[in-house]
Amino acid sequence: MTTLTPDAFELNDVQQQILDEAERFSREQLLPLAADMDNTEECPDNLFPLFAKHGYLGITMPEKYGGQGLGLFEQGLICQAMGKYNASAMLTWGAHDNLCGNNILRNANDDIKQRYLPGMCDGSIIGALGLTEPGAGSDALGSMATTAVKDGDEYVLNGSKTYITNGPIADIVLVYAKTNLAAGHRGITAFVLETKTPGFAVAQKLSKMGYRGSPTAELVFNDCRVPAANIVGELNGGVGVVMSGLDVERIFLAPAAVGMAERCLELSLDYALTRKQFDKPIIDFQAIEFKLADMWVGVQIAKAYVYRVLAMCAGAEETEAGRGAVHAHSAAAILHATKMMREAADEAVQIHGGAGYMWEMEVNRLYRDAKLLEIGAGTQEVRRGIVGKYLRGTQQ
Ligand SMILES: Cc1cc2nc3c(=O)[nH]c(=O)nc-3n(C[C@H](O)[C@H](O)[C@H](O)COP(=O)(O)OP(=O)(O)OC[C@H]3O[C@@H](n4cnc5c(N)ncnc54)[C@H](O)[C@@H]3O)c2cc1C
Repeated sequence: MTTLTPDAFELNDVQQQILDEAERFSREQLLPLAADMDNTEECPDNLFPLFAKHGYLGITMPEKYGGQGLGLFEQGLICQAMGKYNASAMLTWGAHDNLCGNNILRNANDDIKQRYLPGMCDGSIIGALGLTEPGAGSDALGSMATTAVKDGDEYVLNGSKTYITNGPIADIVLVYAKTNLAAGHRGITAFVLETKTPGFAVAQKLSKMGYRGSPTAELVFNDCRVPAANIVGELNGGVGVVMSGLDVERIFLAPAAVGMAERCLELSLDYALTRKQFDKPIIDFQAIEFKLADMWVGVQIAKAYVYRVLAMCAGAEETEAGRGAVHAHSAAAILHATKMMREAADEAVQIHGGAGYMWEMEVNRLYRDAKLLEIGAGTQEVRRGIVGKYLRGTQQ
């Protein structure tokens, strides 16, 4: 197998080592699981124990909670490596470690952190994030219909969430609900909900075209009682938790697109060197050689920009998220990287010809996986809108 090295820019020695080790772990431990996860639409029971055993849980958590004490940049590098070899495992890990765990770490009080983060770091608690609803996707805040009404020292949740990664397997969900119906965006609160709570149910596990090994569900809350002590951040302060979390989520996921495109290129280069037609390897046809060249250039450019924005976001203050340059560049980086990756997956299938159209081929899985990152974490259109507002100087 051809191994391409990142020669267009330099990571420092520690970052390079983290990326190399994560690639080795992903290639040796996660890649062998990928085809079965895709076929069965199941996340294997041993996945979280595997992450825990190899030190891939709680990447950004302080060591006092059992975490690795690393930063967002390093978490992004690991995301790139996992995305490259098993995108489903990457998404399930990412929803747990970044979308849910990192959000709790950045926004919750000490009591909540003490109760949930050690379990998230040792894999005994699996996390999910519940924002999207059947009627509230891109307009997740404005159209939110899930309510949380105070009753004593509890809140009673009613409503539903959909497309929730890890929904079928989660022990906790960082869930957003309206606590002040009259206050619009300013009336939303984030809660940690334990899924064993009466009134919580997985309404249905959803079947998908890609990322099939990462379980996705519609969740319902029917008079589901959550302690007021489980509020994350301020009461009615959920908008800040959402907005800062979305920037982090976007720039955290962008390297996965880079890793997936790298894999498309590696597989395509190998195939083009070995597949013969008209008595010569198909790489000898300039039409194929140019596709590979364009894929390589796309990976280099996306990687350089993604790393730059990842470093910018990793070094940013919490108050810089959700607006300004951090908001615009995190949206732009994932916009660019995911478009590049989708095009790379398309060309990878094309280079493989009929073989690429076969379900069991790795490029086929990458092609089906590719589309999601242009939809989840805010669609390409929403990302362009963020950049457009930034350019016009009208961003909130
Ligand atoms: C596999 C998967 C996993 C997911 N995981 C999670 C998760 O863990 N947690 C979670 O909370 N959510 C999750 N999501 C939800 C995801 O974030 C939403 O699907 C996404 O935000 C888009 O919302 P929507 O699907 O309702 O599309 P819609 O908002 O209905 O959009 C439909 C189309 O209209 C366009 N559009 C909408 N508004 C505008 C606008 N203002 N300007 C221009 N175009 C617009 C969109 O770009 C899109 O093309 C997941 C989704 C999928 C598919």
